[in-house]
Amino acid sequence: MHSNAEQRIGVFGGAFDPPHAGHLALAKTALEQLHLDLLHIIPTGQAWHKTRALTAAEHRLAMTGLAFADLERVVVDAREIERAGPTFTIDTLLELQQQYRAAQLFLIIGQDQADALTTWHRADDILKIAIICVAGRAFPAGATGRFDASNSLPAPFQRLVMPPMDVNATDLRRRLAHHQSVVPLVFEPVARYIALHHLYQSA
Ligand code: ATP
Repeated sequence: MHSNAEQRIGVFGGAFDPPHAGHLALAKTALEQLHLDLLHIIPTGQAWHKTRALTAAEHRLAMTGLAFADLERVVVDAREIERAGPTFTIDTLLELQQQYRAAQLFLIIGQDQADALTTWHRADDILKIAIICVAGRAFPAGATGRFDASNSLPAPFQRLVMPPMDVNATDLRRRLAHHQSVVPLVFEPVARYIALHHLYQSA
């Protein structure tokens, strides 16, 4: 922990359906570049903006635990899964603000999420509470107003620099449904869990 300084708490949400090497790379990058004291990895409940039905929360939570098991300063946090009704990032941030008084919160997102941020529930309040940290080189496509496509991002944005990783869960689910190998993009323990529970059998 930083002494004499406010705690730096990262928040990294996702469907993690399944968790993959891109998620791990992003988490590692955030821990290092933001000097986080702790990173909360938060599998979503049935997120309001996802049209697809997600894999059962218990499985996504278990896989997320396996995927991030070796990372220090990380906690896999089930609060959104346990919350009744639709889950919103703003509610999670408000809870964490209560939990870590006087801490600085960093919301970690990939480029695609940054592009959609203005559509999030209470986006303005999110920007007041957390510094938004975005992985990816280009910045919100067609950005206007508060978002700035130039290199100097307006506060409260911060860029995370990581080599682009061409991996996404949609493609992995498709490959799994076709019985194709997904290791090492999906880590061995997660792949074993998927096989054991017969997940992603259909695309
Ligand atoms: P799907 O294909 O089902 O939409 P996904 O691979 O995008 O899934 P999510 O669980 O939706 O995974 O992503 C959680 C967070 O991780 C999001 O902020 C997303 O932008 C980010 N992310 C996912 N994959 C990568 C990647 N390869 N590089 C950087 N960020 C990523």
